Amino acid sequence: MTLPTPQEHLHVVAGIVERRSAGEPEFLQAVREVLETLEPVLAEHPEFIEAGILDRLVEPERQYIFRVPWTDDQNRVQVNRGLRVQFNSALGPYKGGLRFHPSVNLSVIKFLGFEQIFKNALTSQRIGAGKGGADFDPTGKSDAEVMRFCQSFMTELVHHIGENTDIPAGDIGVGAREIGYLFGQYRRITQRYEAGVLTGKGMGWGGAEVRTEATGYGAVFFAEEMLARAGQAIEGRRALVSGSGNVATYAIEKVQQLGGKAITASDSSGYIVDEAGIDLALLKQVKGVERGRISEYAERRPGAHFVTSGSVWDVPAELAFPCATQNELSGANARTLVKNGVRAVAEGANMPTMPDAIELFQDAGVLFAPGKAANAGGVATSALEMSQNAARSRWDRDKSESRLHGIMRDVHETTYAASERYGRPGDYVLGANSAAFVTVAQAMLEQGVI
Ligand code: NDP
Repeated sequence: MTLPTPQEHLHVVAGIVERRSAGEPEFLQAVREVLETLEPVLAEHPEFIEAGILDRLVEPERQYIFRVPWTDDQNRVQVNRGLRVQFNSALGPYKGGLRFHPSVNLSVIKFLGFEQIFKNALTSQRIGAGKGGADFDPTGKSDAEVMRFCQSFMTELVHHIGENTDIPAGDIGVGAREIGYLFGQYRRITQRYEAGVLTGKGMGWGGAEVRTEATGYGAVFFAEEMLARAGQAIEGRRALVSGSGNVATYAIEKVQQLGGKAITASDSSGYIVDEAGIDLALLKQVKGVERGRISEYAERRPGAHFVTSGSVWDVPAELAFPCATQNELSGANARTLVKNGVRAVAEGANMPTMPDAIELFQDAGVLFAPGKAANAGGVATSALEMSQNAARSRWDRDKSESRLHGIMRDVHETTYAASERYGRPGDYVLGANSAAFVTVAQAMLEQGVI
């Protein structure tokens, strides 16, 4: 049998995915971005073509779609759609977050699950990849409504997860409160205290130090490594952060700890600029404790202002951390950032930068870290939470943060080394995709055609 060339093979796989997943734009975008970078890897590893690794990698191992009925505070019946996509388990049990947001659909969950394969491989933590969620909007719901929704969601999800099969965590709209309600229902149905079945748990009952902070901190650690390699630092630099949830808050905190000045935050209603540097205590109070809107920050902070037109990317700064959601940074935004002198962009969110914007950054010599690498600290620390649960132990904060820091240094090293090996030093997109792909492909090859 003559093997197709890498280029022919990639073309065929792309065609199959486009046909099979027509109508899933986010998923197709995520797959295309990976396929575009894999030619040099396949040239070096024809055995991956022969074993149909890519053909299998782009198709989830299993997908569940289920009804989530619940009653609101007015006793009306509400119905949402729940999803869990178990994408790849070659490296370990499925691992990836749950997203509760009205925009959730199969395309979004599949793109997130696909990205998770690569991200989890880069952490070296032996975890497979999955993702799930529901088109439920927690905004404006009472705690009791959120609890009833979570209980109904778990009543179905319980059949598909377990500490050695699939371990969900949080994502947009799913934080400590939701993980608590989900865990409670899991324990009630199974009659087992299986702490390792969910990560992001409360600190008093199996949670890990620094898990809450890990994604945001990790993205800043990754940026620090990229800058250091280029002889630069975070200290003294202005940083733009989008979002004001879990990832954004702790990206801002770490930028400040490293001597940088984070001057923006946002939510879906607009963004704030605080030239004096974000007041973290106020941000946590407004968004975390009160679950309010970002405009309330500007109302309480002299000198800060709230803007509803344009985006945070219009503000001049040297560093940018997109930490809200997918496709939030366009080509036009990238052009503005480059014009304003941005030096490094590190994705705290998943796929926030559109493909034309990535190209613009790379052409302009801006250091660009894709989320697969830059936001891997969250899931890596989730894996550390699983280890602590299994050992019935608990690490202190210093040990936890230093493990996270070490992992992010390793992710950077692995990614950079792969970018060199495959001919484009400093192209972290190529580096992350190729290093992760080789790890997963090798495991799939050794485990046979399944
Ligand atoms: P949160 O729910 O804590 O915060 C999300 C933030 O993004 C909010 O400020 C929200 O504003 C804003 N946002 C969400 N959707 C939109 C939208 N469609 N348009 C504008 N703004 C929006 O989520 P996280 O901080 O946990 O997640 C943020 C990103 O980081 C996501 O891409 C997630 O996949 C990624 N990520 C998260 C990890 C984690 O550990 N939590 C791990 C790795 C990646 P509003 O309140 O107005 O909706």
